[in-house]
Amino acid sequence: MDPIVRSQRVRKRVAELATAISAYKSLHMLDLPDIGRIKELERLQGEIIEEIKHIADPESCDLDCFVVKALQELGDSLEEYCQKAARLIGGRSDSCEQGSVISTLRDGSLDPESHAPLLVVLQAVLRAYSESLEERGIVWSGITHLCPVCGVPSETMVKRRGAEYYMVCHMCFYQWRIARGVPVCPRCGATSPLDVGIITDKSRRIGLAHCQRCGYVWRAILDEHMKIPPTAAPLIALGAERFRPALEEARNVSGMDGGEEGFKEENS
Ligand SMILES: [Zn+2]
Ligand SMILES: [Zn+2]
Repeated sequence: MDPIVRSQRVRKRVAELATAISAYKSLHMLDLPDIGRIKELERLQGEIIEEIKHIADPESCDLDCFVVKALQELGDSLEEYCQKAARLIGGRSDSCEQGSVISTLRDGSLDPESHAPLLVVLQAVLRAYSESLEERGIVWSGITHLCPVCGVPSETMVKRRGAEYYMVCHMCFYQWRIARGVPVCPRCGATSPLDVGIITDKSRRIGLAHCQRCGYVWRAILDEHMKIPPTAAPLIALGAERFRPALEEARNVSGMDGGEEGFKEENS
């Protein structure tokens, strides 16, 4: 790909993420002195994604196959990317040494702290694969809190236009549809407002959802008019943590029910 086009695409990714984070500042309520670092990490992952996405071919090569192919494609730049990641977030800069990556993945000896730079690279590889699925219009529907692409559990639900509820993967940012019309527990499939409740405030833009049947708790972005790219959704949804004390309190009161439409309002 033309290097100019590639760098334009990377810039667009960074801008999209930064714009969403600053647009919804009042919702996530995170003090983000490290927005500069978030942008640098997105730039780094964007570069990796743009370098490998063209070799993704989900019809003939599944995710495991793609990871191997992508790491080969990155070749020597793998270690460069790792060193950049280590400068941004710490961890061992040699965690991506050629030859050891695949064995580290296979024998499960990946340590989140010392291998943090490798995880940054791997996340970019998973994102490239998940984007290639989305670009082919492959949208998975069904009840699960585990990402159908990479298997990581999600605690982020986003309501999109037409009252469609999606879960967003915290790792590869794949989005899968779990329900339409009413929120459903992504883990056990409970739909009754008596089972699924959402603690929110009057604005009803963001809330903390919980399932009485299986105990699952997840964060929900409830305003379907909000334009939130999947890369920003888990971060913005963290704002729902403000309702955690109210949830704990409600859980201690026996016979808690979801109330009207499963919503409980609280003034905060
Ligand atoms: Zn995933
Ligand atoms: Zn449940």
